[in-house]
Amino acid sequence: MIDCLYVHVLSLILERNIRFRMLQPTPGMKHFFIAGNWKSFKGQNDARTWFAEFISLWKTGTHQWSSVTAVLCPPYTLLPFARDALSETTIPLQLGAQDVSPLGEGAYTGEINAGQVSEFASWTIIGHSERRKNLGETDPLLIQKVSQAKAAGLHIMYCVQDESVFVPDGVDVIAYEPPWAISAVSGGIAQNPESANRVCEKIVAKHPGIPVIYGGSTTPDNVLSFVRQPAISGVLPGGASMDPTKFFRMIELLATVS
Ligand code: PEP
Repeated sequence: MIDCLYVHVLSLILERNIRFRMLQPTPGMKHFFIAGNWKSFKGQNDARTWFAEFISLWKTGTHQWSSVTAVLCPPYTLLPFARDALSETTIPLQLGAQDVSPLGEGAYTGEINAGQVSEFASWTIIGHSERRKNLGETDPLLIQKVSQAKAAGLHIMYCVQDESVFVPDGVDVIAYEPPWAISAVSGGIAQNPESANRVCEKIVAKHPGIPVIYGGSTTPDNVLSFVRQPAISGVLPGGASMDPTKFFRMIELLATVS
C-alpha cells in the first residue's frame, strides 16, 4: 500500500518535472513552440509518404531541437500510425489531437474522449476557429473540453481569434490565430508580424506565464519574422505542416534562431 503510494507520488513528481522542463525556457534562451495542424486532410498513404520524407530529412538535420517543442496534430485516424512511425526514431516530435470530446467515456456515439486521445498523443488543440465557426463551438463547451483534457493529462493549445476571447484556466499554450489570416480562408495572407505581436502582447498581459504563439499562413519564409517578435513564442502552421519539407524547415529554423 505504502509502496503503491510512493510510486504514485514519484510518478506525479516526474510528470510535473518533465512538463515543467518542457514548458519552461532555458534561462537566457527563448523556448519555441510549433504545432502542425493537418486539419481534415490526409489518409494513411499520404501519412506514410509524409513520415518517410520527414524521417529522411531528420537524418540530415541538426538534431538540435532542445529549444523547441515540436508537435504534429494529424487527424485522429492517423495518430496510431504517426505514433508507430515515430517510435522507430529518436525524433523529438510530439503528437497532438486537433480536438477532444467535452464528454468522458460513455454512450456518446462518435465522440473521441480525452482519455482515448491520451493513449496516442500528449497534446490537443482546443477552440480552433474552424470548429467555432463550422461546428458552433462556444465558450461553455470549450471549458468542458479543457477540463476533460486536463483530467486526462493532455497539454492544451488553446486557440483565440483576438485578445478579447475568453481563455479557460489550465491551458498550456495560447495560439492567437486571426481567422482571416488562415491560409484556407484568405488564400495565404499572414498578418503583419508587428501587428500580430501587438495583439500577442495584450494576450500575454492578460495571461502572464502562458506562452503565446501565432497562427495564420506561416511558412519557412516568414516564421522567423514572427518568432523574433518579443511576445510571440512560436507558430501554428496548417498548410505548411502538410508538406514535410516545409514543416521540417520551420522546426530547424526555430531550433537554430538566436
Ligand atoms: C491553422 O490550421 O490553424 C492555420 C493557421 O492554417 P494555415 O497555416 O494554413 O493558415
